[in-house]
Amino acid sequence: MSVTDQAFVTLATDDVYCQGALVLGQSLRNHKTSRKLAVLITPEVSSGMRSVLSSVFDEVIEVGVLDSADSVHLALMQRPELGVTFTKLHCWTLTHYSKCVFMDADTLVLCNVDELFDREEFSAAPDSGWPDCFNSGVFVFQPSLKTYNLLLQFAAEHGSFDGGDQGLLNSFFSSWATADIGKHLPFLYNLSSSSVYTYVPAFNHFGGDAKVVHFLGATKPWNYKYNLQTKRVMQDGTTSESFHQLSFLALWWNIYSASILPLLEKLQKMEESE
Ligand code: UDP
Ligand code: MN
Repeated sequence: MSVTDQAFVTLATDDVYCQGALVLGQSLRNHKTSRKLAVLITPEVSSGMRSVLSSVFDEVIEVGVLDSADSVHLALMQRPELGVTFTKLHCWTLTHYSKCVFMDADTLVLCNVDELFDREEFSAAPDSGWPDCFNSGVFVFQPSLKTYNLLLQFAAEHGSFDGGDQGLLNSFFSSWATADIGKHLPFLYNLSSSSVYTYVPAFNHFGGDAKVVHFLGATKPWNYKYNLQTKRVMQDGTTSESFHQLSFLALWWNIYSASILPLLEKLQKMEESE
């Protein structure tokens, strides 16, 4: 049974992040989600990449860069560091959906996670660096222009304590930490692959039930090299990934090489023959 008024939503502002969005979208398809898949993009994303996105996502939605000239937009334009943050907030404008789950383009689902739609706005999992804050890589929200405008106004007035969407959203939904435990998603829905090593016994005990992996931090899966023959992620010696990190990276690359690379290669051939 498909549910047409609910969607998983992600964001990719350039062709590089599109690779992550495509793997995320494909992982949701592989696990047979009954919800729609939507991706927000900005004008920078190439037309070839848009057509590849539309073979995985139900909707590819271009959002403008500060397209209106009212006072809130003007105030935000003075804060270029909030650029990507601002773009993520556009997810609240998707009012043709009654409820959505936002997922960063550097996340990957390991099983069907449609039960997330049983949660209400604003639900998210704790951040491993400061657990009284939620991590904004996975969250349940309800599209609403009213909320969208309140968020923009809040951004213009208060900015973001970390310069990104996570600081802004934590200040805006500030009762998250204490008000309603039902809005705390289990950490298994936003397992940061780099935090695993900070509590290895817990990972060994609970990690088998992980549902969503989040490759947060500066080095993303697409920054690694992968050996298509041995199906192993190659390490260049400058970083030291744990066994678990390497196996999550290999999962990402399995999907990328099996389902996404063929789409990108087909596109390349078409562009060459033009
Ligand atoms: N993002 C993007 N382009 C960028 C930076 C970020 O599209 O140049 C989007 C993408 O969906 C990404 C999310 O914003 O997953 C949050 O950024 P990122 O995942 O890099 O931050 P982290 O989770 O590492 O803090
Ligand atoms: Mn992320």
